[in-house]
Amino acid sequence: MKALDKNDIESFDRLIRTSGKITVTGHMHPDGDAVGSGTAMLGYLAGRGKDAMLVLPDPYPSSLGFLAGNPAERIIIHSESAKKAEERLLSSDLVICLDFNAFSRTGDLEETMYACTGGKVLIDHHLNPESGDFDLCFSETEVSSTAELLYYILLEMPDISHEACRLPAITATALMTGMTTDTNNFANSVFPTTLDMASSLLATGVDRDLILDNILNSYKESRIRLMGYLLDKRLEITEDGVAYMILDSETIRKFGISDGDTEGFVNIPLAIRNVKMSIFLKQDKDRFRVSVRSKKGISANSCASEFFNGGGHEQASGGKLMIPDDVRNLEEAAIYIEKSTHIFFNR
Ligand code: 5GP
Ligand code: MN
Repeated sequence: MKALDKNDIESFDRLIRTSGKITVTGHMHPDGDAVGSGTAMLGYLAGRGKDAMLVLPDPYPSSLGFLAGNPAERIIIHSESAKKAEERLLSSDLVICLDFNAFSRTGDLEETMYACTGGKVLIDHHLNPESGDFDLCFSETEVSSTAELLYYILLEMPDISHEACRLPAITATALMTGMTTDTNNFANSVFPTTLDMASSLLATGVDRDLILDNILNSYKESRIRLMGYLLDKRLEITEDGVAYMILDSETIRKFGISDGDTEGFVNIPLAIRNVKMSIFLKQDKDRFRVSVRSKKGISANSCASEFFNGGGHEQASGGKLMIPDDVRNLEEAAIYIEKSTHIFFNR
C-alpha cells in the first residue's frame, strides 16, 4: 500500500470537523466489507460527536447484525425506506462512500448520489474508480479490503494519532470483520499491512472468536443443504477449466434462501485442481447476478468486464446478465458462460 497523502488526510479531517450532518454509504447487496467499514466509520464519527447515519441500498445479511447496534436509529435501508434514505443523503453536508468505485454500484440510489450537493469522499479498494464524481478519493488496490484502508486512514486522524487502542471498540470490531470477510478469513488478498492491522486490532482486545462465530457459524441449515445440492446436481466444469453453477429463482424459493445465504459458494469449485475460474449465477428478478473468481494469473476482472457487465478485483469480480436482453433463461445462461469463457481462454 502506498503512503497516505498528508494533504488528503488533513482535508478528510477538516471535512468531518466542519460538517454537521454526515452520511456513510456502501454498495448494493452489502457484504461484510461494506457493512464492516460502514459501521466502523459510524462508530468513529459518533465518537467525534457527529450526527452520522449509514444508508445502504439493500438489507445486510443477518450474520452481520452484530455490527449494527441499534439499526433503527442509525441505519437506513433504501429498499425499505426510500424517501427517508434519499432525504438523508440529499440533506447531508458530507457523504462518505465506502467499498464501491462508481455510483452505479449503489443501484437504485445512483440518481440520488449524483444529486447530492454535500461533499463526497470515496474510500475504496476496487480497480478503476470514477474519481471525477468525488471531492476527495482514497483509492488503493494493494490492501485486503476497504476496512483495511479505512483503518490506516483513521490511524492518521489527530484524535487517534497511530494508537489503535483509541479507536472505539465497535470500530475496531467492525474493521476486523470487514477485513476477515473480504480476505475469506486470511485466504485471499493478504498483504503485510493486513497482518499488521490484524495484530494491532487483536492487541486492542477485539474478540475474533465472536466475529468468526457470527460470520462463519451462524448460517441457516438451508444454506448448507443448498450447497450440497448445487455441488451434487448443478456444478458443471468446462474443458477450459471453468466451473460454474446457476441458481434459479425456483430453487431459491424451494430452499428458503435469502440474500447473503449463498455468500462464498463461488469460491468452493476453485479447490478443484484443474479449475482455473469459477462462476456463480444467482437469479434475481430481471437478472442473473454473476460472481467470478479466478486463480492467480487469470483475470476475473477482465472476464467480468468483457462478458458480464461488471468488474471488481483481479481475482474476485462480479457483474450481471439481464433477462431477457442478455439471456432468457437458465439454459441460455449456461450456453452463454460456456461460449464466452471459451473465447476468453482461447485467444
Ligand atoms: P461478489 O461476487 O462477491 O458479489 O462480488 C465480487 C466483487 O465484484 C466485489 O468486489 C464487487 O464489488 C464486485 N462486483 C460485484 N458485482 C458487480 C457489478 O455488477 N459491477 C461491478 N463493476 N463490480 C461488481
Ligand atoms: Mn471490499
